[in-house]
Amino acid sequence: MARLIDGKAAALALRTEVARAVEGFVAERGLRPGLAVVIVGDHPASRAYVRTKTRMAEAAGIAARLIELPADIQTAALLERIGELDADPAVHGILVQLPLPETIDEAQVLLAVSPKKDVDGFHPANVGALFSATRPDPDRLLVPCTPLGCLHLLRQTLGAEGLRGQEAVIVGRSNIVGKPLAALLLAADCTVTVAHSRTRDLADVCRRADILVAAVGRPGLVRGSWVKPGAAVIDVGINRIEAEDGGSRLVGDVAFAEAEQVAGAITPVPGGVGPMTVACLMRNTLTAARLQSGAGG
Ligand code: NAP
Repeated sequence: MARLIDGKAAALALRTEVARAVEGFVAERGLRPGLAVVIVGDHPASRAYVRTKTRMAEAAGIAARLIELPADIQTAALLERIGELDADPAVHGILVQLPLPETIDEAQVLLAVSPKKDVDGFHPANVGALFSATRPDPDRLLVPCTPLGCLHLLRQTLGAEGLRGQEAVIVGRSNIVGKPLAALLLAADCTVTVAHSRTRDLADVCRRADILVAAVGRPGLVRGSWVKPGAAVIDVGINRIEAEDGGSRLVGDVAFAEAEQVAGAITPVPGGVGPMTVACLMRNTLTAARLQSGAGG
């Protein structure tokens, strides 16, 4: 039976470490790290996410601001608002909650946040820096939060040197998870395969993996029979499905009950990668404040 990778406990430990470092930064610099979270429209899941992010930021000693904008806002008006936040020295990190309404030009919005305040790590300059660095340093570079959280959990599970030479398969090639995680695992000396909806013989590809990451958005896609015995399985998926009692519940992209029989270690959903994403956002906000104040990593 697989060991459970406790993302909640790991996230709490990371947030506690960040909170301590934030107070050190305030004492040293006389400046409190600030985070602005921008939400457009009233998508219920997105609203819940931004509330968690601002609450966790406050708990870590970060000055958090929630900017709520109407769903019918024009791209130009949104860009102007982001420009104001970008120019505000009290704001060190800006996060624009995705997805944006279809009427908004998302690529332009991501470009409007300057790279040094881009705590999501989605700006092309940060993406380029991540992919071109031989050893990307998350203390000096803003790396997307979810992949950073996955890396943290893998390091904790396999040990600092435990990733070297491992065969890693990531199912999903999105810009927010699959691709940046591939860059991080490559830099950690894994041999990385990125699979997607057009991958042939996906089950066989997955069975090669010492480290198997599912970031797809399809409940239970990865079956137990796809998992190599002893593999570390990271389930990024968050899918709401109908529950037996007529309500709903969250499940991942991995058929958990099957996979835990085979894997060496596995993240649950909920309580795995999700809490780490928020903790890494806090870490990135502190990193952004340090970089902007010239304090380095
Ligand atoms: P996305 O942008 O929709 O990308 C999904 C990827 O999965 C695509 O590359 C797609 O392939 C691939 N895919 C779809 N169906 C497939 C199939 N049947 N077989 C193989 N590959 C398939 O999704 P995302 O934003 O990366 O998110 C993925 C999941 O992670 C979602 O459940 C999301 O809610 C969750 N998520 C969780 C967190 C967290 O904090 N835990 C953060 C972000 C996302 P193509 O490229 O070929 O279309």
